[in-house]
Amino acid sequence: MGNLRPNRGALHKPLAVLWVLGRVAAGQRWVRWREFGPAVDELLRVYASATSKPTSYYPFWHLSSGGFWELRASYTSAPTRTALDADDPEAGFTDGAYSVLSDPAHRARAVAIVRRTYLAAVAADAIVDAVGLTGCGTAAGVPRKLVTRQEVQRNAANKRRISDLYDDRCQVCGTRLDLLGRGYSEAAHIRGLGAPHDGEDAVENMLCLCPNCHTRFDGFALAIDEELFIHEVTAAGEGPAVGKLTVAADHKIDVRHLDYHRRFLARS
Ligand SMILES: [Zn+2]
Repeated sequence: MGNLRPNRGALHKPLAVLWVLGRVAAGQRWVRWREFGPAVDELLRVYASATSKPTSYYPFWHLSSGGFWELRASYTSAPTRTALDADDPEAGFTDGAYSVLSDPAHRARAVAIVRRTYLAAVAADAIVDAVGLTGCGTAAGVPRKLVTRQEVQRNAANKRRISDLYDDRCQVCGTRLDLLGRGYSEAAHIRGLGAPHDGEDAVENMLCLCPNCHTRFDGFALAIDEELFIHEVTAAGEGPAVGKLTVAADHKIDVRHLDYHRRFLARS
């Protein structure tokens, strides 16, 4: 997505891409102009009214310069809105991009990147929900209901085990919150249990974190590499190591889960 340069105020392209990703999630291969135009205009009106005019015709044509988007029409230069309204052409991701983005994990990663890079200043959660991509863009995913008694018990046992292993001390920053004389920590799943991540509920996939670090980890503002070094992440990408994860002797962490989480931070 190399042509989606961060540019405060120009939200047409990122919002258009998110809307189309929502259509891909629903299994739709091509979108018609008369469907795309009003829907993307509405997103621009609701979520970007202060910074962008509703000009959905602009990305419908101009995204094709990025090599991942094609317009199924024979215009030789940018069509006017009137021409699009008359012709109602189809557009969509190119075959290669579509097949990659049909994979839920790849799609979630694309959403996370668009969100972090272009939507830091707007209501990104609401937009992701509005286009039908709920759960994409955070490491936790859509909170999954534990359906069987066995699942509920295992989940509770794993949480207890994680907080016991660390006496409620955060593995990232070392904070131990005292709540009315008792320790408080949160058991974070590295690969979220919810869709689209579908991680497993096991201590190998869990960390003991304070609420701050948990929020930052789920929001992809923290990454942990395969050697357990901690990196802070900004819109510019992953920074240098700022410390090392504390790991108890009998807590085996499956680094494949850390790698999965970190894949969401890579820039396109
Ligand atoms: Zn912490």
